[in-house]
Amino acid sequence: MMNKFNTSILAALVAASSAAYAKQAEFAPHHCQATESNAQYYRNFPAALTEAQARHARIAEVKAARAKQGAAVETNDASPYVTGVAGTPTYIIPVVFHVYGTMQNGHLVNDAVIMDALSKTNADFKGQTADFADVDSEFAAVKDTLDIEFHLASLDPDGNPTTGIIYHPESSGAGNYSSSDVKRDHWDNYKYMNVYIQNDLYADGVTNNSGVAWYPDTAMSDEGLARVTYNGAYLGSNTDENFRSVLTHEFGHFLDLIHTFEGGCKRGANRRCSTTGDDICDTPQQNGWQMNPGDGGVLNCLGETINWQNFMAYSDQYANYTQDQVDRMVNGLSSAARNTLWSPANLAATGADN
Ligand SMILES: [Zn+2]
Repeated sequence: MMNKFNTSILAALVAASSAAYAKQAEFAPHHCQATESNAQYYRNFPAALTEAQARHARIAEVKAARAKQGAAVETNDASPYVTGVAGTPTYIIPVVFHVYGTMQNGHLVNDAVIMDALSKTNADFKGQTADFADVDSEFAAVKDTLDIEFHLASLDPDGNPTTGIIYHPESSGAGNYSSSDVKRDHWDNYKYMNVYIQNDLYADGVTNNSGVAWYPDTAMSDEGLARVTYNGAYLGSNTDENFRSVLTHEFGHFLDLIHTFEGGCKRGANRRCSTTGDDICDTPQQNGWQMNPGDGGVLNCLGETINWQNFMAYSDQYANYTQDQVDRMVNGLSSAARNTLWSPANLAATGADN
């Protein structure tokens, strides 16, 4: 399509811009602003970018050490981070949901809906869905699972019993970095994963943004700002079976994963796949976000098949993470901003070891 405009750079730019706008409007309910929000955060707080770079350097170090030991580099079981006891999940994360208004775009948000959504996200991480078995054959060897469970806390910060679901009056803007709701209502970010459920994430009158989350960062945890913010209209049975996996997508961001389409497709970038795009080498670059094979094809600019079913894409059939993504999440879980969450002492303190 672009060829007929190639005599005019301006025309091409206008065409690309219009196409992007049309696609954006169509995709509005799916749009996650993690890319923009994290980029903005790193611009405002360069120390956070330095912390992230140090954290990511650790991935290469661990892989090199594992390779030297003769362990299969891509085998998660060989991870030096694994501390779980046989028969229990390797990682349990205590979660508190803060709910602002129980009717969101006509959908009820209650305990049952939240428990259902969380249970299904746990199944996504563990590959216990029908879609996981239906991942394109090109990715059969690299699709992977993370042995993690997100549990509602049963003890609050004062040690009192809680359902792990706290209801507040209707409010908006928890998707904005320094949200006053988040600052006021958060529970210790080193003890609880805080999830904020609102309908208007940015307090701009738009009620179909799906969610946003920030990557691990100690400064955000220190300030009580680490979080996932999510639209209650897209929780569990409030939406369709595929779209409810956007919660899994946001949890992926919380564990340090980037969109698989970040940065688009660039020739030559494969040589730097661990530090460009999504920083992941077993997820092929994507020309842009594509919901399904009919949405721009399944081949990227290098002719490689894309993992359009990846949880960190935007997809009509969310199905899988990959081995390198699981390694990155394990590394994120071992970071100072996340590693206190799943410690045995903290699981006992938050009542999440159930
Ligand atoms: Zn996202």
